Amino acid sequence: MKEYDGRDNWSYHQKAVALMKRYQLDPTPEHYSVFFQHVLGSDVDLSRAIMQRLHDQLPLDARFCTHLYRHYIFKPASLEVHARSVGATQESMNMMLDVIRTTLSGANEGTVDVHKKLASLLETEHTDVDEMVKSLADIMHEMKNYTDDLRQHLRESQHQVEALKHNLETISLESQRDFLTNVYNRKALDQKIQQLIAECSEHACSLSMLVIDIDHFKKFNDSHGHLIGDEVLKMIAKLLTDSVKGRDVVGRFGGEEFIILLPATSLGGAMVVAEHIRKTAAEKELRHRVTGASFGVVTISIGVAQYRFDGEDVSDWFARADEALYRSKNSGRNCVTQENITIEYPHTENR
Ligand code: GH3
Ligand code: MG
Ligand code: MG
Repeated sequence: MKEYDGRDNWSYHQKAVALMKRYQLDPTPEHYSVFFQHVLGSDVDLSRAIMQRLHDQLPLDARFCTHLYRHYIFKPASLEVHARSVGATQESMNMMLDVIRTTLSGANEGTVDVHKKLASLLETEHTDVDEMVKSLADIMHEMKNYTDDLRQHLRESQHQVEALKHNLETISLESQRDFLTNVYNRKALDQKIQQLIAECSEHACSLSMLVIDIDHFKKFNDSHGHLIGDEVLKMIAKLLTDSVKGRDVVGRFGGEEFIILLPATSLGGAMVVAEHIRKTAAEKELRHRVTGASFGVVTISIGVAQYRFDGEDVSDWFARADEALYRSKNSGRNCVTQENITIEYPHTENR
């Protein structure tokens, strides 16, 4: 698929607008993205569908454009596709704003036209007052219709742009979340780690990580089934989220393993948070929501490590936390272990 590279921006824009005019389509975001993608040649299938329609001499109307939009650009069934279309949709939204701007300057021309009529009416000598009043009323009526249409048109465009903006925000938030537990997914975690390293480095504050793994979860699944296992994953994710605050980040690293990033938190502070989480989980008896039957207690093991602001690789930081987790497992599980410290930490302790 050809990607939009930002060059010749205006020429694509003009071609897309010209096509919308030719087929008498309103300049809506949907129509705009269909024709923008078409002239850009970014989706061969979309362009082929348009060419086929013209070849069949069928109307290229709003209905067909909506079909194209749903089929080729915005497919609600797939979040992946949503994410991929975010860039193109964002571009469409910017262009849509240009269309509104163009409409507004057109409006200016329209009012200039009415003003000219008014001026010429006033310049002409009138003997028949009734006739003059009638002409004046006609002009005012024309002006009113014109501005009413314009207002309506702008209102509709504005609603569509707002809806598009809302869609984009939802898509980009959803694409960061793990589908089961709703905490950050692996990809978003990677971004958050980089962001927090940069921020904590700038403010010279500590940054710690907890690697959390559910104990004997395979056995739990084997005893109670995967669906109940999934409910436990959701419950643990909620427990983790409820146990942290502010800018702390909770994510699912994969399977039954979670990560918590704690900015402005030293190793000692992180150990306190981890121990609180471990204890809360261990004290919670799990019950079936409907029958009330007990599933017993699910415990967790945690490894804790602090980032070394000497440009260390994220994978080294993670490896230290993971190695501490391994020692928690070897110590009988349901416990918290910190990394083996070999250096002094220069960053401040805020928690
Ligand atoms: P340990 O205490 O050593 O961590 O033992 P464990 O059984 O938790 O670890 P192991 O790595 O042997 O097994 C992890 C299990 O986690 C395997 C799988 O059944 C379960 N699991 C991973 N992802 C999911 C999931 O999305 N849903 C459910 N229900 N179970 C999952
Ligand atoms: Mg595991
Ligand atoms: Mg486990």
